[in-house]
Amino acid sequence: MAVPQNKVSKSRRNQRRAHDFLVAANPNECGNCGELKRPHHVCPSCGHYDSREVVALANNVELEDDAA
Ligand SMILES: [Zn+2]
Repeated sequence: MAVPQNKVSKSRRNQRRAHDFLVAANPNECGNCGELKRPHHVCPSCGHYDSREVVALANNVELEDDAA
């Protein structure tokens, strides 16, 4: 089993952990619906990206009668 060569002091351990934190999300407003969304991602509420629809939402898709 690997054994640490030197004891890591509390100071050194804490300095290493100083960078271990979560960064808050930075949401953007959707250009189409105004909802907050992740930058560079398709809007989950309207399916738009770069002001055009790229993903049709399930409740907007019209299915033929014999489908499904
Ligand atoms: Zn949207």
